[in-house]
Amino acid sequence: MRQQMVLDTIAAAATPPIPSAIAIIRISGAQAFSVLEKAFVPKGSMQARKLCLGAALAPDGAKIDEAMAVKMPCPHSYTGEDCAEIYTHGSPGVVAAVLDTLFAAGARQAEAGEFTRRAFLNGRMDLTQSEAVIDLIESRTRAAAENAAAQLSGVLGKKLAAIRGALLDMATQFSAMMDFPDEEVPELELEQAEEALGQTEQTLFQLYKSYARGAMLKNGVPIAICGRPNAGKSSLMNAIVGFDRSIVTDIPGTTRDIVEQTATLSGLAFVFSDTAGLRESEDVVERIGIERARQALDQAAAVLAVLDVSQPLTAQDESLLKELTGKHVFLVLNKSDLPQQMDISRLPDSDFKRFTVSAKTGEGVDALCRALVETFGQTQIPGESYLSNPRQKDAIRRALAAVRRAREAARMLTADVVCTDIEEACEALGEITGHSASQEIIDGIFSRFCVGK
Ligand code: GDP
Repeated sequence: MRQQMVLDTIAAAATPPIPSAIAIIRISGAQAFSVLEKAFVPKGSMQARKLCLGAALAPDGAKIDEAMAVKMPCPHSYTGEDCAEIYTHGSPGVVAAVLDTLFAAGARQAEAGEFTRRAFLNGRMDLTQSEAVIDLIESRTRAAAENAAAQLSGVLGKKLAAIRGALLDMATQFSAMMDFPDEEVPELELEQAEEALGQTEQTLFQLYKSYARGAMLKNGVPIAICGRPNAGKSSLMNAIVGFDRSIVTDIPGTTRDIVEQTATLSGLAFVFSDTAGLRESEDVVERIGIERARQALDQAAAVLAVLDVSQPLTAQDESLLKELTGKHVFLVLNKSDLPQQMDISRLPDSDFKRFTVSAKTGEGVDALCRALVETFGQTQIPGESYLSNPRQKDAIRRALAAVRRAREAARMLTADVVCTDIEEACEALGEITGHSASQEIIDGIFSRFCVGK
């Protein structure tokens, strides 16, 4: 189990080394306050958790800035240790000098993520919360930030810890019974275990499924744009995203690779993949593009199928629409600014929602964007946190498989197998929360952090 440890005192700038309004320097460790005193002289007396005005000092004691500082005594600080912060003007020169003063006084340069790693080691947060910190820092949309904030509040960690705790209790109970070899584990106990394991399986399965939503909030909703060459896919993507990225030409088949573009619509990111025109081709490069297009289609949460209504419906259009059966499709009837040549009544019957659009004039693009937001833009459910990284998803998958096996073993009345499988499930869940995460996993997580966090 994790416990409070006494480590050396670390310091680092928490803001980037560029001229800016303010810079923040962080200190954590047993010597945090004595080290602070060498680099900051308060105007009055410093009180815990109260911002205090004063002077920042260079290593030779010279005043180099008017600054503020705060002390946050342990254990109620970010790291669980004594912490302090100094707020200077955002001058890289000032920050470097103040850090030199702190280092001369005995602090050392913090490594990437070391403050948060200490928070984890000191039990201030579990691994799900530590991962949420980095997700929150990296979030570029409101939706991504909300999900990370929910995870940071501990919703996911608490849920997993409760499941793990209940499973551990069950395993302990069974091992205790098996310590008396003459006594069989009563059938009733096994029946109850089977039922409880069934419920756990349901909860884990819901969590496993939540990854799709969590990944969408974090990385954006993947949307594939497809249609035959020249239908207006690139133009539509540009109209949605609002600026040119891919080359628009009149020669069919020029979009040879996948061009991705992210647009934030109502606080949620959408990643549009402008796919190569789906058609048979002898050209090797174009064939690779087409293969990627099919992959993008498979991974997309929805497809914008673009038709050029200024041309008659072609066999290629029809085969594309057929291929999209069963997918979530928004049918985009493009080039509405031109005289219509397509007989819309000949379009195959489908439940695809239709949008009449001109990618050129922008007409109808708003309505399409609004429909995307209505479909995918459901905001965070209070108290819910979705799995948002593949590491968590993989561990849940393993825990789920082990719980399924344990339930099956309970049904077959093989108590010892129940125990082994439950323990395996606990191990996998512990990897997510940090209760049983290897050093390698922990190092991997904190290596993603920046210095000063
Ligand atoms: P893609 O091959 O499907 O990506 O098609 P592009 O976006 O490259 O468009 C092919 C041609 O159609 C270009 O000349 C575009 O300017 C034109 N185009 C695309 N959308 C519209 C539209 O809504 N109206 C008109 N008039 N032309 C369009």
